Amino acid sequence: MTEGGAPAVEIRGLAKHYGPVRALDGIDLTVERGSVFGFVGPNGAGKTTTLRVLLGLARSDAGSVRVFGGEPGTMRRRIGFLPDVPGYYSWMRADEFLRFAGSLFSLDSDTLEARIRALLDMSGLGGVSTRIGGYSRGMRQRLGIAQALINAPDLLLLDEPTSALDPIGRKDVLDMIAELRGRTTVLFSTHILGDVERVCDHVAVLDHGLVRAAGPLDEVMSRHAGAQRVVVQLDGDADVLAERLAGETWVDAITRSEPPASDGGDVIEIATDDIPRARRRVPALVAELDAGLVRFEVRQPSLEDVFVSLVAPDPGRAERRPAESEGNAR
Ligand code: ATP
Repeated sequence: MTEGGAPAVEIRGLAKHYGPVRALDGIDLTVERGSVFGFVGPNGAGKTTTLRVLLGLARSDAGSVRVFGGEPGTMRRRIGFLPDVPGYYSWMRADEFLRFAGSLFSLDSDTLEARIRALLDMSGLGGVSTRIGGYSRGMRQRLGIAQALINAPDLLLLDEPTSALDPIGRKDVLDMIAELRGRTTVLFSTHILGDVERVCDHVAVLDHGLVRAAGPLDEVMSRHAGAQRVVVQLDGDADVLAERLAGETWVDAITRSEPPASDGGDVIEIATDDIPRARRRVPALVAELDAGLVRFEVRQPSLEDVFVSLVAPDPGRAERRPAESEGNAR
């Protein structure tokens, strides 16, 4: 049962080995009720394993896992789940499939029919008479989410719900997820960082079975995103400008980047914490050099910057570096 105030998910020191493979190496994670939580990490990071433990489908080797304060196995009826490769009966229509899924939860028929109508409406499949075998991938995923919601779960777990979808299909699925905010806690794994930026209020970055960073999206961003960057494009060569900038105290680093295919001039990126200074100095230096300024743009750090800084392999990185001091945690 729900205990007042218990988080939707509380994981402490969770470890799971598959033979010699340490899929989870002692993760801590808290998912607050009502949040839309993005669970990101490279292939093999341990995302699916975590979801399987939460569902009671895999047993952990160490640590504790609580779902609404209880053992995951006893909370199964309060959890909805969409696996990364869902199975369907292709000869069924959407309403038939939802009726079949609902029959597993022994709902009375009025409740079930009302839910089917609401979920068909929410998934945009209400007027669709095609059998599932004729669905696009986007339609299948929307039906999969509807199916996962048939028992009106308090926690919805989605394993890579938007991978392999085109932009319209992704938008439809993300809209469905966003609609659940505040009503159903959503935890979804993904490689698509832009999706997390679009709909999530919380995020965890998992790598090699460890949580590298976790918490409210804006906090994770401000803690890990590093310096802001200014993108400068000239109408010609930027070597001299780069040399001059390298001598300025407010410049942390300068890197080259590719100009857009349509424009010819050099593009440089300046890492700095002093954007007002950059706004004054860059145009002044460009004028001194009698060059043409094509673009001056302050680029806000993205979740991709955070992800790359936390998980990108570099030659000096140990195979399993220790978790961040903030908490291999929430
Ligand atoms: P992906 O993004 O590729 O789906 P993931 O983050 O979901 O990856 P997991 O599927 O949890 O990662 O896998 C974590 C590690 O555990 C990987 O090294 C994987 O090969 C291993 N693993 C997962 N399931 C099993 C299994 N049933 N038997 C053996 N090893 C497994």
